[in-house]
Amino acid sequence: MGSVDAGAAMEKIRAAGLLRTRGLIGGKWVDAYDGKTIEVQNPATGEVLANVACMGNRETADAITSANTTFYTWSKLTASERSKALRKWHDLLMSHKEELALLMTLEQGKPMKEALGEVNYGASFIEFFAEEAKRVYGDIIPPTLADRRLLVLKQPIGVVGAITPWNFPLAMITRKVGPALACGCTVVVKPSEFTPLTALAAADLALQAGIPAGALNVVMGNAPEIGDELMQSTQVRKITFTGSTAVGKKLMAGSANTVKKVSLELGGNAPCIVFDDADIDVAVKGSLAAKFRNSGQTCVCANRILVQEGIYEKFASAFVKAVQSLQVGNGLEESTSQGPLINEAAVQKVEKFVGDATSKGANIMLGGKRHSLGMSFYEPTVVGNVSNDMLLFSEEVFGPVAPLIPFKTEEEAIHLANDTNAGLAAYMFTKNIARSWRVSEALEYGLVGVNEGLISTEVAPFGGVKQSGLGREGSKYGMDDYLEIKYVCMGNLG
Ligand code: ADP
Repeated sequence: MGSVDAGAAMEKIRAAGLLRTRGLIGGKWVDAYDGKTIEVQNPATGEVLANVACMGNRETADAITSANTTFYTWSKLTASERSKALRKWHDLLMSHKEELALLMTLEQGKPMKEALGEVNYGASFIEFFAEEAKRVYGDIIPPTLADRRLLVLKQPIGVVGAITPWNFPLAMITRKVGPALACGCTVVVKPSEFTPLTALAAADLALQAGIPAGALNVVMGNAPEIGDELMQSTQVRKITFTGSTAVGKKLMAGSANTVKKVSLELGGNAPCIVFDDADIDVAVKGSLAAKFRNSGQTCVCANRILVQEGIYEKFASAFVKAVQSLQVGNGLEESTSQGPLINEAAVQKVEKFVGDATSKGANIMLGGKRHSLGMSFYEPTVVGNVSNDMLLFSEEVFGPVAPLIPFKTEEEAIHLANDTNAGLAAYMFTKNIARSWRVSEALEYGLVGVNEGLISTEVAPFGGVKQSGLGREGSKYGMDDYLEIKYVCMGNLG
């Protein structure tokens, strides 16, 4: 669609009626009860895009009450009726693709091409779960006594609290809200305070689609207050969260008191293993995509590129060349493939990790500093000879820094890959089929990409093992987290 000016983009969003700045409670757009607001900034320019309601525990309590009341009507609709409303929401998301993508680029910074990709991806969860709504099957179990019949019913769990991050302002919401609504649950969403505008626009479209008032509520502002209110409520039966491991652990602990079901998508530390027998072009292209998507700010981004010694030099030089071709800039410019980081704190974290690596003997092969564009732009960076005593190995950098770690044997690669508390995504590049099976099975990860760097899709289960989380999102498995199993024994039928 070519480059766009920020003012014109805002005008387009406003004209479509999608610039929402208040929270959504019981189908009404409401200000914070004390009138407080927070600024939403464009990370590429620092410009304030909007002031949105800064809500807390009182607004959250009302959103929960509204979701709870609506649960009794929404869950009683037929699956087909819920499916139709979701399908309509999907269609509206797609017909407002451009405005949603612009909004995302403005508040999050990702390039328009990626933002448009996220609208497709985000909407695909609504379409998929509109279809799955009709496939929530129970069971009939052969009874142990002749005059009994044993049934298994699947029922919606109730009110869901969904807390989401800034890196995928739309898809992390639809991946949770889609299955929740499909099952008959109602939801209180708390989007990230950095990116509430996309969430609010999507919620507006949900209302337009006929998702009833109160089935989907949105509150944002004081995250700990909102989180605590959701935790304490006995009406909220499930918490679903995507974000940092530290906050995830807090939410898990906080859910204990009311014994809520918890789903968590937390941080990763993805290994990307390039074996000597890899197709070098496939490995470079796949690692580049896995590392630099969203400027390295996804939990499935390749965090450690492990390269076998026989291919190390060749891979390193081809990879550096590919990284050099990435174009840093404002996401609204058509040529941009790397936007800014979300904020100054994110850049400082990257600087700290790179400084730690170079102080311990790693070498900068490309980049390694802030970009001349200023703000939170950072140069796409490749660091060579990284080892397991460096922060770049042990933690998620969440930025455009690719550490290369040499290894000798397959056994060593598996050991290095699994030497972390995280277990979300892993990648490998090899032409050897036996090895691809062997290593896939040995990797302690929830997702494995073989000869492919972009593997997420609505039809496949997404989720981690170890401290990367609990539960799976997307796919038929994504419904289970929003359903309770009820056993019904019908006796004395003889
Ligand atoms: P990130 O590092 O990706 O920003 P966070 O875990 O800080 O990850 O944020 C993810 C989501 O969790 C955001 O919506 C944020 O506002 C929310 N959040 C942060 N702290 C808390 C908390 N104490 N309780 C509930 N939600 C929180």
